[in-house]
Amino acid sequence: MKNYYIHDKKKLARRRRALLPVLAAVAVLAFACAAYLAWTPWQDGPDTFVNATEDNATMGNATTVNATAAADSVPEPPRREPVQEYQIRDGDTLSSIFDQHLISQTTLFQIMDADEQILALDILRPGNTLTFAFNADWSLEQMTLTINPARQVIYRRVDAENFEFEEVVHPGSWVQQTVAGGIDGSFFLSAQSAGLNDQEVASIADLLKGRINFRRDLQAGDSFQVVRRQQFVGDQFTGESQILGIRILCRKRTYDAYLFSDGKYYDHDGNSLMRAFVRYPFKGSHRLSSNFNPRRHHPVTGRISPHNGADFSMPVGTPVYAPGDGVVTRALRHQFAGNYIEIRHNDRYSTRYLHLSKFLVRKGQSVKRGDKIALSGNTGRSTGPHLHYEFHVAGRPVNPVTAPIPIMASIPRKDRAAFKAMVAALTAEMDQARATSVTAEAPQLTEATGQN
Ligand SMILES: [Zn+2]
Repeated sequence: MKNYYIHDKKKLARRRRALLPVLAAVAVLAFACAAYLAWTPWQDGPDTFVNATEDNATMGNATTVNATAAADSVPEPPRREPVQEYQIRDGDTLSSIFDQHLISQTTLFQIMDADEQILALDILRPGNTLTFAFNADWSLEQMTLTINPARQVIYRRVDAENFEFEEVVHPGSWVQQTVAGGIDGSFFLSAQSAGLNDQEVASIADLLKGRINFRRDLQAGDSFQVVRRQQFVGDQFTGESQILGIRILCRKRTYDAYLFSDGKYYDHDGNSLMRAFVRYPFKGSHRLSSNFNPRRHHPVTGRISPHNGADFSMPVGTPVYAPGDGVVTRALRHQFAGNYIEIRHNDRYSTRYLHLSKFLVRKGQSVKRGDKIALSGNTGRSTGPHLHYEFHVAGRPVNPVTAPIPIMASIPRKDRAAFKAMVAALTAEMDQARATSVTAEAPQLTEATGQN
């Protein structure tokens, strides 16, 4: 109430100043009108607020928030559709998109609350779409984030105060291909012209970076073969692809990596290309105060509200260490997750750390296992100082306390035969693709379709 009062006083003052040069009689009349206009919002609030939004699109945040907060309950303006789809553009924020769709700040907070355990909305990717479904009273009933044809996150209203999320993953079908090419210029350009996309080239560079210097070790005439699989829903590529095997034949030696059924990459001798993880991202022992629980009941709504990580009680300022090598993909502040970090370890593994007090790394930075990345804290929605730790395998959270995270350095003896057979099959594919590639003097694709 106090805010409205101040706001209106300023409005009155502005109008008084504007009327100074006008004749006294007119001024009196105009003043009366101005006073009436300024007073009007008290009379028929919602309509005036809607006009305020449309007329004052460039006004400060506070005004817009007040306006849209009221807008959820106004009669239907002609241009609104009960279902609206929006394609995310560069520079958009969730808040700006909600403003455009006249969705209240309160609803924004409720959605962010529901998103805390999945954090799918914290980085908006241009090209992804948001679909809004409204109720008759223009309250938001459901919002769907479509990340790619195979992956959606649906936020559904549970009651007046709560939304819940559901992640919808279509398995699609995976198409396996072998891509072969020769080095001509940089590896990046050569791989691209052979038909690999940017993400695949980045994955390969990531896989082999500890073994090969892509600038120094490669020269014209060297060749490479890659077995990859790509995910399709119908005939649409989802953007998801996985490198099954990569071999670079150089004059002096061969660099290679093969993905085994345990989800790790090895060279042809079965030596791991990835350094092992340590189980916990901290030293010493800290009490497990809340377990990973995909079926947890929400303390307020009683509904299923997953806890996608494990909480470890620890004093604010306890050092947090990277449990494995990787790249920092997020170092952000979130209303509920607090200050949090995400590390991408490779194609398959990533980890998250929530409620931190201090970042010691920045986005884009490479980290090695054991590097100090942050200090634990109590930021965001947290009932006490603790570290919320998440371990994701292939994009899905697993229990970080019990999941079989890779801690072995080479293929165990019992799996040797299976590994050798797999390498033999992939290298046979590669040899064939290479032979075809050399004959044709052009990049060649050999194709095999598989359901997985
Ligand atoms: Zn937690």
